[in-house]
Amino acid sequence: MLIRTAPTGKTAPRLINDLLDHDPRYSAKTGRNLLADPAPKFRGNGSLPARKSPSECRHALMKKEHQTNAPISNDELPDELTEYKVAAYCSTCLYHFDITVDFWQRKDRQAPCHLSDEFNPLHHLRLVKSTNAREYREKHGVNKYDTVTEAHRFVCSGEKCPLVVDIKISPPRLSHSILSLILDTSKMDMRGRREIKNDPDRYQGLPPVKPLQALGYLRQYLYDAKGAKSRTDLKKIARRNKKYMLAFADECDELFEYLDFIAVQDDALEPEVSVFHVLVPKHFADIHFQGGAQLLLAAAYHNGR
Ligand SMILES: [Zn+2]
Ligand SMILES: [Zn+2]
Repeated sequence: MLIRTAPTGKTAPRLINDLLDHDPRYSAKTGRNLLADPAPKFRGNGSLPARKSPSECRHALMKKEHQTNAPISNDELPDELTEYKVAAYCSTCLYHFDITVDFWQRKDRQAPCHLSDEFNPLHHLRLVKSTNAREYREKHGVNKYDTVTEAHRFVCSGEKCPLVVDIKISPPRLSHSILSLILDTSKMDMRGRREIKNDPDRYQGLPPVKPLQALGYLRQYLYDAKGAKSRTDLKKIARRNKKYMLAFADECDELFEYLDFIAVQDDALEPEVSVFHVLVPKHFADIHFQGGAQLLLAAAYHNGR
């Protein structure tokens, strides 16, 4: 594990601003890390390099409500049991951000910085540890729902402040090539027109499906799968289904496989339908959805508008 120490730190507002400007896609190329590196010293006009290039993302973070436990108001005071977590994704670059704020690990410190404290009004955060993607994989194993691009731990330098901040950055869950299967309007239109042409009587009066409709179908499949308590409770997706055929046909198998749906033969279906596979989720465990599959889709939904 790479241990990085910074002799200087950043106040909390500065850290947040650096987080919003730090684009992990460019760190490896430029060798600098806006979030983890200490702020450069100002030594007069022209002494500082550009903060970032225009192509780097200024993240527009969308909160994942179900994975977030944040203070309800600015006046809320943490106690020795408090742990806040904000889970978010960027609606532009689709990277995920988990920010955990912990007040109980450093028990010898009992007085968090506070605006009313004239000596320690703001947290001042120092980097104590960074983990890259390879180190994270070696420690936690390979898991497509838990991949990390980089992770950093900061502690507050306030003498009595117990604050520990962990920031985990994860890559987009689905590649652009997979997402384009349902977000590319022309692909969707061609798919729908082809299916209608192949069987005009069956699809009479039905137009090709638009990306937003396809995302809506997919989201419903995921919620149904998440809500199933047992195998018998599962809602199966008949691939012969008109809606499915117009939206996905046979071209989106990679997407469904990524989301852990598997194709099975269902003998219980009507004979004329039984030759077609149905899709069912491989597992029922919530872990698939904690990984943010449906939230990723929400991001894609947002992105596709
Ligand atoms: Zn972004
Ligand atoms: Zn502090």
